[in-house]
Amino acid sequence: MVLIGPGGVGKGTLAQRLVSADDHLWLSRSWTTRPRRETEDGTEYHFVDRTTFEQAIDDRLFLEWAEFNGNLYGTPFPHAPPGVDVLLEIEVQGAEQVRRADPQSVVFLIMPPSLEELEERLRARGDHDEHVKFRLSSTPAELAKGRELASYVVVNDDLGTATAQILSILEELRLRRRAPSEKE
Ligand code: 5GP
Repeated sequence: MVLIGPGGVGKGTLAQRLVSADDHLWLSRSWTTRPRRETEDGTEYHFVDRTTFEQAIDDRLFLEWAEFNGNLYGTPFPHAPPGVDVLLEIEVQGAEQVRRADPQSVVFLIMPPSLEELEERLRARGDHDEHVKFRLSSTPAELAKGRELASYVVVNDDLGTATAQILSILEELRLRRRAPSEKE
């Protein structure tokens, strides 16, 4: 299960909500070469330097990886406990690779209620002006690509509502997976 969407849309918080609400969802922890933000405690990513990341690419440790905003990000092949669904919170280039590697994967595009609201959220989390401008300039392309990839589009206006919508879609997907013939 893959969450994509523009920066500031609240994917990270949604992902946390989803795994706390659903014992059978397992959130993957990505690697990145991006420096840790002051607001981060170090658990958000496995923070590494570029040489270490490139070595991991050569060693084929990643299910997918991509360069975004000058930094590398990658999902290690998941070592999830049996019986869980794996949740990834990644950007679109990575989601394309996951779709290719696993056609059973389901992509959710998380949309902001409006571009104005997205800008406010980016500023509220302390992003610098230039970064906010960069993020907003790439948003239309990200959303267009995201719409092509996504099976479901969820607007994150209210966090509780968006979480509940995704959980109910997930339940439906699990039912279909358990009894495909009954549903067809
Ligand atoms: P940030 O630097 O704001 O934490 O993340 C920047 C972007 O990278 C976000 O869209 C986030 O979802 C994405 N991202 C985080 N981890 C991964 C990953 O493992 N692979 C890919 N392709 N993107 C990731």
